[in-house]
Amino acid sequence: MNNSKNNIANYHISSNRVLGDIKGSKQTPTVVILAGIHGNEQAGVKASKKVLQKIKEDNIQFKGNFYVIFGNINASKKGIRFEDVDLNRIWRKENIEAINNLSVEENAETKEQIEIYKLIKDIIDRDIGPFYFIDLHTTSSATVPFITISDSLNNRKFSSNFPVPVVLGIEEYLDGPLLTFINEFGHIALGFEGGEHHDEKSVTNCEAFIWKALVHSKCVAKKDITNYNDYKNELSNLCCKYDFFEIKYRYGIKKDEDFKMKSGFINFESIKKNQDLAQSNGELIKATEDGRIFMPLYQNLGEDGFFILSKISKFWLSTSLFARKLKINHFLRLIPGVNKAPENNYTLIVDPKIAKYLAKDIFHLFGYRQQIYKDDKLHFIKRDRKKTAFK
Ligand SMILES: [Zn+2]
Repeated sequence: MNNSKNNIANYHISSNRVLGDIKGSKQTPTVVILAGIHGNEQAGVKASKKVLQKIKEDNIQFKGNFYVIFGNINASKKGIRFEDVDLNRIWRKENIEAINNLSVEENAETKEQIEIYKLIKDIIDRDIGPFYFIDLHTTSSATVPFITISDSLNNRKFSSNFPVPVVLGIEEYLDGPLLTFINEFGHIALGFEGGEHHDEKSVTNCEAFIWKALVHSKCVAKKDITNYNDYKNELSNLCCKYDFFEIKYRYGIKKDEDFKMKSGFINFESIKKNQDLAQSNGELIKATEDGRIFMPLYQNLGEDGFFILSKISKFWLSTSLFARKLKINHFLRLIPGVNKAPENNYTLIVDPKIAKYLAKDIFHLFGYRQQIYKDDKLHFIKRDRKKTAFK
């Protein structure tokens, strides 16, 4: 990087990076929409523009702050998911340190990342919370709209306002998504998948989602939005509303594997154990358990063949809420083979031999998710966090 950029604070922000910026009548809350993090997913961008326009045209009373940040501008122009690296897989601690030390390896996506990082940091440093981050996406195959979140109690609570299924714990299977990074500073961060990439309904779904997010964060009043019930109904009439799911199984595709998903699966469709799901190098792949099929791969690119979800019971949800509120998670550290990480209070380092006998579910119950495998040990990281300075 040249000298004019020798401080992240001086970094130039592209003129079209912020699609909208509203300062309302009160200082709080702050809602931040991220759209087009994947360049081939434009429904969220279109929906955000429509919402901004309606707020302006209808002169809707707004409280708090509202920002719409454009994700991968370069890839969006080219109509591709990304150019060099997936912009939603590079939000690891070491990448952010490299940005702050100005030692980041430049490629098409890190240029976008630096601007987005700086903007989010400025917003969190300057504005007053609570902060709500919403990241809008679409999928390669048809789907009912759904939410993905890290399983923190504040994320759960905000998600339960939307009449769509919520999938917990996807971060155990993804490396470096933006929302997990934001979550680690204690803020609410929801991912919303609005539908198939090119389906016009996906735009309407994203629009409905933004309006509901603005209402439930108390930025706008329902009564001020004409057609509010239409937006609400748009999301309501689909399957699995208000249900919470957890990923139980991932089928990872190996290098050079010839993987073919059986045609016709719809996201969240019920499946039975031993049901034929796909073919790998000509051999049948059967379901390992009963559940729901999730993200079946119907495009050529990708490492995830499919996932299997299971519905989380209301009992489990309330038990884990209770357990976390009582803060009795400290007892996990008393189990032989489970140790607190020396550098922080929210990481448990677990001997994989112990973890084999101790179901992952017990860590999940207390809000811990497996994040990494390092030095032959599993690292479980707590999703509920106190709000800390964004860096
Ligand atoms: Zn996406």
